[in-house]
Amino acid sequence: MPRPISARIHLDAIRHNLQLVRRTAASSRVWAVIKANAYGHGIERIYPALGEADGIALLDLDEAVRVRELGWTKPVLLLEGVFEPKDIETADRHRLTVTVHCDDQLDMLKAARPRERIGVQLKMNSGMNRLGYRPAEFERAWERTSSIDAIGQIGLMSHFANADDGAIDWQIDEFDAATRNLPGTRSLSNSAAVLWHPRAHRDWVRPGTILYGASPTGCARHIEGFSLRAAMSLESRIIGVQTLAAGETIGYGRTFTADRAMRIGVVACGYADGYPRHAPTGTPVMVDGVRTRIVGRVSMDMLTVDLTPCAAADIGSPVELWGEHVKVDEVAEPAGTIGYELLCALARRVPVSVGAGVPGDAEVHSA
Ligand SMILES: *Cc1c(COP(=O)(O)O)cnc(C)c1O
Repeated sequence: MPRPISARIHLDAIRHNLQLVRRTAASSRVWAVIKANAYGHGIERIYPALGEADGIALLDLDEAVRVRELGWTKPVLLLEGVFEPKDIETADRHRLTVTVHCDDQLDMLKAARPRERIGVQLKMNSGMNRLGYRPAEFERAWERTSSIDAIGQIGLMSHFANADDGAIDWQIDEFDAATRNLPGTRSLSNSAAVLWHPRAHRDWVRPGTILYGASPTGCARHIEGFSLRAAMSLESRIIGVQTLAAGETIGYGRTFTADRAMRIGVVACGYADGYPRHAPTGTPVMVDGVRTRIVGRVSMDMLTVDLTPCAAADIGSPVELWGEHVKVDEVAEPAGTIGYELLCALARRVPVSVGAGVPGDAEVHSA
């Protein structure tokens, strides 16, 4: 009998979230961002839910090749472009679109002899100050890009520094001014801009985190109005119960003291499963269908929960650590992080199953 912890991936939730992106940015095409192994969900697992996307965006070459091997024929975008000349051969062989953010990449493309011209997304640094050409040098970069034989179509892209807290007009203005005279499709919007900044939608949007039902701000409240659905549930069971007297403590560091007699459930889930060790007493959790809180410190393989509101809970009772009822961001926020990080950091030892999530549908298990 394995430990009772497992994660479930809900393909219907991803399909639903993708539809929501479509309706929200109705005149844009959609790059589904599935970098970092689909934000921890597993590219192969979620692939069947991506059919409605117009393209796939990621940044590891091996992930791009896996997507082609799965049968994806629509565009695939490498968000950081190529790292060395031989990557261009891979891009050529698998018809990958490459981001170009610096002259070193153009030098490599200039020296390359691909069988077919390679599509490019030319990246502007409009204020994020991570990758891309400055607005003042963007036209020159475009001229150079368009003069290279190995390069086919050129799209224009940029990325927002704080689409999540509102102020992005200055970056859009920089981008628009510097691209006024240039042809090509435009792509600016991550998840936050998809939800909150219609002005940034343009030709292609690039949502990542909202496809998985997590909040672009890391705050669950901010996406309450959007009917996004959680694509991953982390579930376990109660494996022990303790009854504490007032004044007794729980776990390492004795950080929680019972102020009255109380029942405590021990859950088979710890930081070695990807649950954040920094989650404090009070972090929400669902036990036996009832919302309650974790109490005391999260240890490697276990954590402890307050069973006061769950009178019927006992050994074997189901626990949702995050998922449909407890949003991943509700766990991330008190732990000082964002849902993105928790999803990406699900530990390898947690078995994952995939379900369409529709009652009656067969569940397909994979390691
Ligand atoms: C990760 C990434 C995205 C998606 O970001 P989300 O906040 O997850 O929507 C979009 N564009 C680029 C360039 C990225 O690196």
